[in-house]
Amino acid sequence: MTKVVKFGGSSLASAEQFKKVGDIIRAEDSRRYVVPSAPGKRYSADTKVTDMLYACYDLAAKGRNFDEEFDLIKDRYYGIINDLGLKLSLEDEFTTIKACFIGKAGRDYAASRGEYLNGIVLAKYLGYEFVDAADVIFFNDSGVFDAERTNEVLSSRLAGIERAVVPGFYGSMPNDTIKTFSRGGSDVTGSIVAAAVSADLYENWTDVSGFLIADPRIIDSPLPITTITYKELRELSYMGATVLHEDAIFPVRKAGIPINIKNTNAPLDHGTMIVESTCQKPPFTITGIAGKKGFTVINIEKDMMNSELGFGRKVLEVFEKNGISFEHMPSGIDTMSVIVHQAEFEPKEQEILSGLHRNVHPDSIEIESDLALIAVVGRAMKSNRGTAGRIFSALAHAHVNVKMIDQGSSELNIIVGVEEKDFDAAVKSIYEIFVIHQL
Ligand code: ASP
Repeated sequence: MTKVVKFGGSSLASAEQFKKVGDIIRAEDSRRYVVPSAPGKRYSADTKVTDMLYACYDLAAKGRNFDEEFDLIKDRYYGIINDLGLKLSLEDEFTTIKACFIGKAGRDYAASRGEYLNGIVLAKYLGYEFVDAADVIFFNDSGVFDAERTNEVLSSRLAGIERAVVPGFYGSMPNDTIKTFSRGGSDVTGSIVAAAVSADLYENWTDVSGFLIADPRIIDSPLPITTITYKELRELSYMGATVLHEDAIFPVRKAGIPINIKNTNAPLDHGTMIVESTCQKPPFTITGIAGKKGFTVINIEKDMMNSELGFGRKVLEVFEKNGISFEHMPSGIDTMSVIVHQAEFEPKEQEILSGLHRNVHPDSIEIESDLALIAVVGRAMKSNRGTAGRIFSALAHAHVNVKMIDQGSSELNIIVGVEEKDFDAAVKSIYEIFVIHQL
């Protein structure tokens, strides 16, 4: 059995956290390949090393002195090294990094050093081999991740190594410069490594015990999701759940490897298993509820719209030309609504309105802002009658006015649009009817 284990920034923020990580890894022989993030926050007002590196590099790029900021970064690493009692000097590394900052090696290079150095420290602490991600993770000339080349080089390199640490977040470009994934990208590296070694499981260790059924800022101590399918997760993450980087799903999913989200601070908790499919009966009809505020709906009305060929295309063309993607598009016989992100739409509002008038000559256009969308997701919805009915009676009881309804054809989700002011009440009422009343 082989597991790839990825540890997030808060799991490696201090020597105390490193010790927990060491205990977790040593507890199972199968935890052979480890992907670390850079040291994260030790307490809520703390700064992540990645952010310190960006700030430091920004000074360097302007030709300003950054000694003080750089020393603070050194302190973070030496604090960990000394508290762990390791015999390790990073002086040569720091000298090189400083010179590269002065030589303007790039923001990505700067940020990547957080993972690079933490990888060296962790490898030393565990007695594992350090494999620099720059030698095994590749991007193409356009800066797009090169899955084929990476998989080839990474799998043959790791085939010869029993236990290794591969730092997360970065790789190299064909011209040997460093490139990073987007923020939170160590999750992606973990997934790539898991696929390359054909792992049995990809464990993603963080500071929460997996996904929760609903947002804990709205629901008091929501229950955790024990098992979720990749498809369900897509529907939820798309609405704003942030435990796992979105791009981390693809490599493992393609290789048929499940992901287990685990908590470094509560390692015995089950966490959330993310799987392709499962015969396990979910405890509730719904798997999760996620929502987001900040949407605008553009209602377009025109008599006989339903028989006008190409109407929908002409409407969407206006949005496309203005670089706006739409979220949903519910329609009636003579009406069509397009739901978009308010922040993206606002600056282009007048261009879009005049474009719509020109393209489809509507009878009227009405705009409503401050809409929230709530996705109610669950693989069990398909086989349970009355799910939509229960959602709407719960919302009615909570005095929430439903502005829009959309059920995906997969019957995996029902999306409801409500006014932003009703958002919390809506989520609470849905959680209550499906979870609390079901306990
Ligand atoms: N250290 C990087 C960040 O803060 C990448 C990661 O932690 O996954 O975004």
